[in-house]
Amino acid sequence: MDVTCLTPQELTALIQLRHQLHANPELSGHEAATAACVRDFLRHTAPAQVVEGLGGSGLALVYDSGQPGPRVMFRAELDALPITEETGVPHASRCPGKAHLCGHDGHMAILAGLGLWLARNPPQAGQVVLLFQPAEETGAGARAVLADPRFAALQPDWAFALHNMPGMDFETLAIAPGVASCASVGLRVTLRGREAHAAQPETGQSPALALGAMIAALAPYSTPGPMGADFRLATLCHLNMGTPAFGIAPAQAEVWITLRAYDDAGLDTFEAAVVALVENIARGLSVQISRHDHFHATVNSPLAVDHVLGAQGAVGVAPGNFSIPMRPSEDFGAFSRKTRTALFFLGAGQDQPALHDPAYDFPDALIRPAVALFAQIQRQVQAG
Ligand SMILES: [Zn+2]
Ligand SMILES: [Zn+2]
Repeated sequence: MDVTCLTPQELTALIQLRHQLHANPELSGHEAATAACVRDFLRHTAPAQVVEGLGGSGLALVYDSGQPGPRVMFRAELDALPITEETGVPHASRCPGKAHLCGHDGHMAILAGLGLWLARNPPQAGQVVLLFQPAEETGAGARAVLADPRFAALQPDWAFALHNMPGMDFETLAIAPGVASCASVGLRVTLRGREAHAAQPETGQSPALALGAMIAALAPYSTPGPMGADFRLATLCHLNMGTPAFGIAPAQAEVWITLRAYDDAGLDTFEAAVVALVENIARGLSVQISRHDHFHATVNSPLAVDHVLGAQGAVGVAPGNFSIPMRPSEDFGAFSRKTRTALFFLGAGQDQPALHDPAYDFPDALIRPAVALFAQIQRQVQAG
């Protein structure tokens, strides 16, 4: 397959789209203008169906052969991060405190490129769904899309997504069957005792010692061990105790902990153990624990992986050196519980800042090979 499946004019338009999206980032769950921008860009490609407001701000475009055949979904993410950008590029974020530092702007441009290609190469069997999904960074978006009643009519037989990966050689591809990204969950632990005068702390009930004991008890999980079925990681993300006043012994403390494990079963076990540990340490205090930002592990289907590997060979993309599964979570895992999915990683270059680094900017040169890979996957799945 020819990696120049886009015309020079199309490529220029996609880079302009990427820069426009990059300059105007929107946070998880608030991506209405981003979705509208993508919808307008692809309007002339005449999809058979446009579904807006899917799972919040989501957008789905359906390209239909009118013939029986597989329904293939390709997914990109709409959301940016609550971080101030430090790239200094001309298309840098115009919104202080918000920036596209995970490359989702690039993923959207790639999917838009697939839309341009589909306008010239419509599917010969089945349907292609381009899903621009909201709120990936919080883990809420894929679940919200799946819960939207209109998604039932879009339920795919296959679903594919990619994530750009700094630190991997440029334009190389890494994929493996099985777990592609870890499961994770955020625990918000609130401890409550009773305030007292700082001169008479024994008359109150302070959460300070329990807080210290909890941090010490989690220490063995705070350094990541080797990746594998037993992988466990607990990261303390936020602490808060009392009020900033020297006269008051505190009553309340709050701890935010992110738990990670190899897969969903491992996370369930780990979470139960940490909850038991916290409740045991905080005995005598009132304890409340709430769950947030839950991500299922993303699990690649071997058949879907075969299609990606086939496309990799056809397009001529070299294998990349990347440790799979990756520790960060991906809410694409919500789809992998429902259909045959494959998530693959595309190298953004060794010398790039990491994802979520204030200096990260998606490399435009990845758009063309990524569109070629998705286009080739579509051809293969459609051909059966
Ligand atoms: Zn991210
Ligand atoms: Zn991301």
